[in-house]
Formats: sequence, structure tokens, C-alpha cells
Amino acid sequence: MNKRIAIVGAGWAGCAAAVTAVREGCHVTVFEASHLAGGRARKTVLEGMALDNGQHILLGAYRKTLEMMREVGVDPDTALVSLPLQMHYPPVPPLLQFEVPRWPAPLNLLAGLFGAKGLDWEDKLALARFFTICRAIRWDIGEDRPLIRLLEQFRQSPKLYALLWRPLCLAALNTPPEQASARVFMRVLQDSIGKRRADSDMLLPATDLSALFPEPAIRYCQDRGSEFRFGTTVRRIVHDGKSWTTDAAPQSRFDAIVLATPPTVAWRLLAGFGAAEPAPLPAPSPIVTVYLKYPPSLTLGKPFFALLDDSERDEWGQYVFDRGQIMPEQQGLFAVIVSAAHALADVRSDRFIADTARQLARCFGNDAFLHPLWGRVIMEKAATLACLPDRTVPAIRQDGRGLFLAGDYLHPAYPGTLESAVSCGIQAIMAFLEDAD
Ligand SMILES: Cc1cc2nc3c(=O)[nH]c(=O)nc-3n(C[C@H](O)[C@H](O)[C@H](O)COP(=O)(O)OP(=O)(O)OC[C@H]3O[C@@H](n4cnc5c(N)ncnc54)[C@H](O)[C@@H]3O)c2cc1C
Repeated sequence: MNKRIAIVGAGWAGCAAAVTAVREGCHVTVFEASHLAGGRARKTVLEGMALDNGQHILLGAYRKTLEMMREVGVDPDTALVSLPLQMHYPPVPPLLQFEVPRWPAPLNLLAGLFGAKGLDWEDKLALARFFTICRAIRWDIGEDRPLIRLLEQFRQSPKLYALLWRPLCLAALNTPPEQASARVFMRVLQDSIGKRRADSDMLLPATDLSALFPEPAIRYCQDRGSEFRFGTTVRRIVHDGKSWTTDAAPQSRFDAIVLATPPTVAWRLLAGFGAAEPAPLPAPSPIVTVYLKYPPSLTLGKPFFALLDDSERDEWGQYVFDRGQIMPEQQGLFAVIVSAAHALADVRSDRFIADTARQLARCFGNDAFLHPLWGRVIMEKAATLACLPDRTVPAIRQDGRGLFLAGDYLHPAYPGTLESAVSCGIQAIMAFLEDAD
């Protein structure tokens, strides 16, 4: 096509946009403020170890992301550890042990449900009724509302709320059920358990997040003549009536520009350009990850467990990942996750590390967890936007002259995820190609 495209931001959306544009024969220049690609899903080095800025889980239903990885030469079968859908709590006391067998859907769900330990028959029947109705109404709940209202309507018990729905909602939407969009939650459920069996698989990266997609995406584009400028912040974009320029490379002219930055930055760039603000956005929602390192012999025997958080006991962890079960070179390393972590904004890191070590020791009945060799806290204050009912998302195409948005906050049906970021990056380029036709 010989078109020149500027992409601002080399997160997963910007990288997906770059790969799509290059595949379609365009020349791409990517401007990235940081010295590393990946944005909110990237490698970070702690205590000499290549870790991630936060534990990520992909789903088998992430079709666009998995296709993109293949396109840039990453084999998802080796780069990701695939686990059947599961929710295991520490064994004592036996709160809930749920895992679906690798049988065809929906038999797998039914078998998982009826084989679950820790639920009584009433709860199992309430869950079976929930899924039967969801299928009957084709997962369409009509008017959107907070998820908690839907759970009440489906008569889900406090136990199911605490052990299943709340932790699932926090993990998928980074928003508590009292505020989260029931419609978006249902869409995630439908895509993961309502179709093919493999869609429900939980996929854990077995490399660092930058190596999983952003770095191979950069190599793919550079090998085909496109360029990435790291450490280059774009502060202004200009259209001179014919083409686009940026303050970061005033001599370079582009046929289109894709703003693949977080929305606050995109809004600033749009305002500077004189465009109307696309839409008011929900507040950002933080995710906190605490890494705790112990001797390599300490293990949980499974890649991850759900934890019951309890603010009254200063126990904040919602999930713990035994990294050594996923990557052997990380034996003895544990990542504990807190989603929608507003309450932790003012908690000091050293206190949070000590609280988390105590939580693990209590939950797993093992005092060895009390004394980590080291601990580090990563607070991502704007991990995603809160995913609220009846949200409206801004349009990807912002202007008939080749100005596009890309990013995880633009997907009409999904919460802020890697899949949303990748899908919207692809869509931004497809919209440009349509206009150019
Ligand atoms: C701790 C954590 C855990 C998460 N867990 C999951 C999970 O389990 N599963 C899942 O699917 N998703 C998860 N997410 C969400 C997922 O990481 C994001 O949805 C996704 O990474 C967003 O990608 P993006 O490209 O839209 O935006 P970003 O990653 O924010 O990329 C934007 C890029 O633009 C750059 N930039 C900003 N301003 C400028 C400028 N002026 N000039 C040039 N460059 C600029 C930034 O440096 C950045 O690289 C998690 C996020 C976090 C933080």
C-alpha cells in the first residue's frame, strides 16, 4: 500500500496495530515513551530476575491475541502453560476445590460443578440453574446493572458469592461485583465457558510478558523495514491539511496516526489538536502484585490458589501464584495479587509484605512463609479502567483524516484485557485501510 502510519505507544495495542499495518504493506513508525515495549503488560527486573509488572492470565478464548502471537512467530503451546478452568483454595479448611475436566463443553462444566468439593447440593443446584438460564437466554441479560443485582436475582448464596463470583469478577473485570457491569461479566463467561471447551483454559505465560508478544512483534516489524523509537514521548500531533506530523519527529509525515496510549494521554493529545473529548471515562482501578522470594524448596504443588481476602485481618491477597510451578528457574518465588486495590493506596510496602507473608503462612499452615528472603510490591495505579454498567466506549475512528485510537478501554463488550488491547489495535488499522480504499 505504501502508506505511512505513526503509532504512539508500544503496549499490546500499539504492537498489534504495528504488526497488522506491516502485514498489510504499510510503513510504520512507533513512538514509545518508555525504553521498553509492553506498556501495562511488560517485563521488569527485580533483584536480578526478569519478572512481570503483574501476573497476567490469558484465556483460551483470547483468539486475536493467540493469532497475533502466532503471526510474530510465538507458539502459544510452548509460551503458555495451559490449565483447565479451576478455583482451588488452600486445602485446610476445605473451602472450595473446583476444576473442570478436559471434556467437551458443556459436559466439562457440569462434571466440574458436581464434582466440586466444599459446596453443598443447594449451591451446586443454584449454579446449575444459573448456567442453564444463561444458556436459555443466550447470555443476554437485557438491561445492564451491577453484577451483584444479577447474582441476587439468580439466588446465588453468600458462600457462592464469596468463594466463586467475587474472586472471578475481580480477576476478570478488576472491579468488585457491587460496581461491575453484569453484561460485560456475562460476555466474558459466555466466551470462556459458553462455546468450545478449550476457550475456558487458563493460560499462564511461561516467559516474561515482553517476550510473549511485544518483543517478537517489534522484530517482525523491524525485519520488514518499520521503525520503533523508544524513549520518545509524543506531546503534540498536527494535521497540515494533507498529512500528520508529531513533535517527536517534525520532519516525518504520515498518512494516519494511531494513538495507542492510555486514554488520559490520548485525551491530552486530542485536546491539543483541538478535537472534542470523546467521552467521559470511568475511574482507573489499581492492581497490586507482591512478589515474595523463599528458598527454592518451598512450593504449593499447584500453579495458583485463590485466597479469601479479609481487610479486618489485614489479609489482602486474592490469588497466589507459585511461579516455580510455571517457570522452573523461578522456584521459591510467589506472586500474590490484589485487584481493585483502592484500599491499599496508603499501605506501606514493608507492612504489606509482612501482612502477605503472614496470610500465606496462615492459609497454608506453614510458618516458612513468614520469612521471605525478599519481597517487592508493584502497584499499578491505573491497571485498567473500572468496568461499570452501561459504559459507553469512544470510537476507534476519531476523524475522517486518519486519526485513530487503539487500546484496551475501547472494546465495546470486553473489560480492559490483553485481548481488548490487541483487538482494538487491529481494528484501528482495519478502519484506516477501509478509509484508504
Ligand atoms: C498488574 C496488571 C495485571 C493485569 N492482569 C491482566 C490479566 O490477567 N489478563 C489480561 O488480559 N489483562 C490484564 N491486565 C490488563 C492488560 O495488561 C492491559 O489491558 C493491556 O496491557 C493494555 O494495553 P494497551 O496497549 O491498551 O495500553 P498500555 O499497555 O498502557 O500501552 C500504552 C503505551 O503507550 C506509551 N505511551 C504513553 N504515553 C505516550 C506518549 N505520549 N508518547 C509515546 N508513548 C506513550 C506507554 O509507555 C505504553 O507503553 C493487567 C494489567 C495490569 C497492570
